[in-house]
Amino acid sequence: MKQYNTSKAIRSELEQLRKNSATVGFVPTMGALHQGHLALIKRAKAENKFVVCSIFVNPLQFNRQEDLKSYPNRMEQDKKMLESVNCDYLFTPSREDLYAKAPNLDFEFGSLGVGMEAEYRPGHFEGVAAVIDRFLDVLQPDRAYFGEKDYQQLAIVKWLVEQKDSNTEIVGCETERFPNGLAMSSRNYNLKEAEFEQASEIYKLMQYCKRQLHQKTPQELSTYAFEKLKEDFQPEYFTIVDEETLKPIQSWSDTAKPRVFVAAYLSSVRLIDNMSLID
Ligand code: AMP
Repeated sequence: MKQYNTSKAIRSELEQLRKNSATVGFVPTMGALHQGHLALIKRAKAENKFVVCSIFVNPLQFNRQEDLKSYPNRMEQDKKMLESVNCDYLFTPSREDLYAKAPNLDFEFGSLGVGMEAEYRPGHFEGVAAVIDRFLDVLQPDRAYFGEKDYQQLAIVKWLVEQKDSNTEIVGCETERFPNGLAMSSRNYNLKEAEFEQASEIYKLMQYCKRQLHQKTPQELSTYAFEKLKEDFQPEYFTIVDEETLKPIQSWSDTAKPRVFVAAYLSSVRLIDNMSLID
């Protein structure tokens, strides 16, 4: 695996590859890699000649300084993991390199940028859109891979690519979970052993909603789950929305594609998850 630290160097490497009509898949990450990230890399490897993974903890998408400071850093383990799945390129730019030109943070996401993460992490998606905007300009990948684990982010990125009229295809990949249902996440590295089991309650409550579909109203389910979460977590939201517009639904007839979204703190670790309520 070749590592590049500057936009200029990786851009010229990829230009050479493209001259030979090679396809490039891109997987942006913030490091502290896990099997969820590796699933994205493997998919990208299967669908492209070369794969670039970036590790960049993007300060613009953190609305709380403590969160940025406590974000896990595991660069040496990350490199080994990337090599184990034959990733071709690792891109680790500095902030100065990536944001040499001041980024645009002025986006109009419409309903995608109103609730859930947008509400609880003000400025988060502006930061995400800015960094992806920059990465796509530098790398010009044929395809870029994002996890459904961050479903609202995936929707924002699809919106961005449409706005930019970019040639990059955005590929959404299913959430990888542990056997107990907990979604894999870099933040899990900050969970204590006992909390790992507790954290699976989020998955259990989403499954409960799926089983209770049409038996109870969306509001009844959200309220029940939110109250239940309060026993061990500090929940921020537990909400059921239309998966296209991300607008909350009042009744099941409001959408053919209901999806549940959750954010909750387990001690100091902020966990998010989501799941389609239909198969
Ligand atoms: P992050 O490093 O948290 O910014 O995540 C980088 C990419 O990996 C994003 O597209 C995430 O949605 C994706 N990702 C994170 N966790 C998972 C997971 N458990 N399953 C699938 N994709 C994931």
